[in-house]
Amino acid sequence: MHKVLIIGAGGVGSVVVHKCAAQPDVFSEITLASRTCEKCIEIAESVRKRTGQKIRIEKVDADSVDELIGLISKTNPSIVINTALPYQDLTIMEACLRTGVSYLDTANYEPPEEAKFEYSWQWAYQEQFTEKGLTAILGCGFDPGVTNLFCAYARDKIFDTIEYIDIVDCNAGDHGHPFATNFNPEINIREITQKGKYWENGEWKYIEPLSESMIIDFPEVGEKKAYLLYHEEEESLVKNIPGLKRIRFWMTFSDEYLTHLRVLRNVGMTGIEPVEFEGHKIIPLKFLKELLPDPSSLSEGYTGKTSIGCIIEGLKDGKRIKKMIYNVCEHEKAHNEVGAQAVSYTTGVPAALGAEMFLRGIWNKPGVWNVEQFDPVPFLEKLGERGLPWKITDL
Ligand code: NDP
Repeated sequence: MHKVLIIGAGGVGSVVVHKCAAQPDVFSEITLASRTCEKCIEIAESVRKRTGQKIRIEKVDADSVDELIGLISKTNPSIVINTALPYQDLTIMEACLRTGVSYLDTANYEPPEEAKFEYSWQWAYQEQFTEKGLTAILGCGFDPGVTNLFCAYARDKIFDTIEYIDIVDCNAGDHGHPFATNFNPEINIREITQKGKYWENGEWKYIEPLSESMIIDFPEVGEKKAYLLYHEEEESLVKNIPGLKRIRFWMTFSDEYLTHLRVLRNVGMTGIEPVEFEGHKIIPLKFLKELLPDPSSLSEGYTGKTSIGCIIEGLKDGKRIKKMIYNVCEHEKAHNEVGAQAVSYTTGVPAALGAEMFLRGIWNKPGVWNVEQFDPVPFLEKLGERGLPWKITDL
């Protein structure tokens, strides 16, 4: 029986709260804290209606370590689940360290002024978390998160050596809007508009944004064009999958989405440098975020499926084998269960389950870890039961 503090009341945070509330034997008291209290109230009301459970609510500015320390001291959780934005990772980790509480997130830290995706800032906490006997679990959403655990499972249970990994992510859903992002628009657009990057033969190779694509046959969805992007799980998997020769990440986008993005980019609306506007400094991308639909509002009427997995090739008993490990998630089913679309759902379910793994003592290991550094089996054994069944096929 443990208290949990969830910070960030967006699309992902809402799923985490609903899923934790569905496991009252693990999470005995749930507090949801965020910048805007109204969103916490809406989520708490939805949980009350669905499960009868009471969610405690707090207001916090997670950019302030002092406010976070006050909140953590007041709520006294066994773990903090960070579902705010990547900008808040370091302040929340710092506050956890100072209050002696373990930590879990779903996305690596990004400095607001530069779209730079790397774990260095968070890995730098390794010694301090170890010394204090605290666990920090990094990147426990779907990708990163479940995709890392699929690779770890392949490493531990299927292959002798893994040589090639392609992580493939398709959202074949339709939300009915001409242009909307499925998670925080600012974070999403920063990720997509940066240079593409992949790792091959011991070095990072760079390409222009969205300049390489291939047709991938996604389970239950069919053939779709997917684009090579850099995604943060590549950085940790390169370290934690011995013998790896190449890892790439591919994501699908509709032509409609790419046309909107190209135009927005061309006119400067995706920029993160401040510009002068009528006597104020504004950041174009932050302004654009205000105009776009809130990802948590998309779930009503969202049809179709996500199909995300890992295509893994390597050697077993001297033979070359190729497998795909994947999950397919339906937007409508996620909406009916917790009032969320599938992208929030596939991120929130693993975050809640990762916290459960920690609280059950299975993933309790002092230090700062990416999820493939834990045993993937107990997590993957529960993942289907928690709403994300997965399959392995031979290719
Ligand atoms: P949203 O924008 O919907 O939600 C973010 C929430 O954090 C909002 O409620 C926001 O408050 C709150 N927040 C932002 N800044 C602060 C602050 N300074 N103090 C307190 N609260 C704050 O984003 P999503 O739910 O879509 O995404 C959440 C996280 O999940 C992101 O880090 C994203 O990168 C990650 N993610 C990971 C995935 C994975 O598979 N690993 C996939 C998808 C997302 P307010 O309501 O006031 O804006």
